Amino acid sequence: MSSSYQSVSRYFEDAVDRMGLSANMQKLLLTPEREIKVQVAVERDNGEIATFIGFRMQHDSARGPMKGGLRFHHEVDADEVLALATLMTWKTAIVNIPYGGAKGGIAVNVRELSHGELERVTRKFVDEIHDMIGPHKDIPAPDMGTNAQVMAWIMNQYQKFHGFNPACVTGKPVELHGAEGREEATGRGVAQLTIATLEKRQLDPVGTTVALQGFGNVGSYAARFLAERGLKIVAVTDAFGGVTTSNGLDIDALCEHVARTGKVVDFADAESITNEELLASEVDVLIPAALGNVITAENVDDVRANIIIEAANNPTTPEADEILARREILVLPDVLANAGGVTVSYFEWVQNCQHFKWELSRVRKELDKIMLSAFEKVWEIAEAKHVSLRTAAYLLGIGRVGRATVLGGL
Ligand code: NAD
Repeated sequence: MSSSYQSVSRYFEDAVDRMGLSANMQKLLLTPEREIKVQVAVERDNGEIATFIGFRMQHDSARGPMKGGLRFHHEVDADEVLALATLMTWKTAIVNIPYGGAKGGIAVNVRELSHGELERVTRKFVDEIHDMIGPHKDIPAPDMGTNAQVMAWIMNQYQKFHGFNPACVTGKPVELHGAEGREEATGRGVAQLTIATLEKRQLDPVGTTVALQGFGNVGSYAARFLAERGLKIVAVTDAFGGVTTSNGLDIDALCEHVARTGKVVDFADAESITNEELLASEVDVLIPAALGNVITAENVDDVRANIIIEAANNPTTPEADEILARREILVLPDVLANAGGVTVSYFEWVQNCQHFKWELSRVRKELDKIMLSAFEKVWEIAEAKHVSLRTAAYLLGIGRVGRATVLGGL
């Protein structure tokens, strides 16, 4: 199986082959501006020293300050973070917000850290990279394993060096310069575009069946918005296993169960299901909303959904993507499907820069407008050029980054 970076480079190459971009320009667009790798050493609660490796990959700033999440997960490595940073460059360009792309991560299992250890890891990481991030350079945000509390610590630690500056990080708690609607934003965008995709296919969202992998920030909000619109979520899994019922899961009750127990398993009135079984569920829509590289050449033949909405980053390997295309399974790519989070992060940054606060209704209205307009544009390119939605999205994103690069010059 190809590495994460090889996968996203392959998607890039598929698109640029159709654009007639020179080899020199391709090299410039694909080469990251800066790769940061730091030691994150902290004292554990028991007095022992623990050392982790932290990364911040700054891929491209042609269209504005670089933007991207920060992932705390034991499988984080340089290759994956760089792949995710390049995805951010195309993603911010596809939804046309004035940013470039970056991504960060620390190879650490957050489940093995106490609250205090998590705080020390976060602050130590900021100590190491604070000079290379900032509101006009590179703005982190939440991703897997990080949340609003982690963002609050980042802001506080950054400000010790640089003074009051809430725009240095997004996804903060609403009580501490965060934006209304940021937490739900990625899930809301996923749900909006799932419905828009069904409408393009002239399918009624009401009663459409969905299987969802991952019930964290993105998965749980996507499930709530989809259930609100009448879709039937028949299977959900997380890192510990999953639950299924053909009648559709009660998502509010499942959220309460997860808040209480930390996992979806053992939810009342449902049978258990594994992650492998979930990917092979007989449903209309499959939504991977957890890790990358979960739909692969090995398991793609088992997929029975007609539509895949990539809520997670990089969930489909290029080999699997080719097979899905041959089987005419529609894939809404990550760079478009999960762009709701970075879009509301942009609104948060705008509000922080202006010291002004928007209401939730405004955030939602502006988010829906940006997501649906990018969706329409990508759909239009796919139809006009007879390419997949992924290639269309890359054509749009790479085209915008390429033009900004040429206009700005070296
Ligand atoms: P999260 O940490 O809140 O939740 C992750 C979920 O995935 C949890 O339910 C966890 O149990 C599950 N999971 C972890 N390992 C798993 C495994 N091996 N098998 C099955 N499930 C597993 O993370 P999140 O913020 O919801 O992010 C999920 C995905 O969405 C990631 O790929 C992330 O890059 C992407 N994403 C997140 C945002 C955002 O705003 N948070 C924005 C864009 C993309």
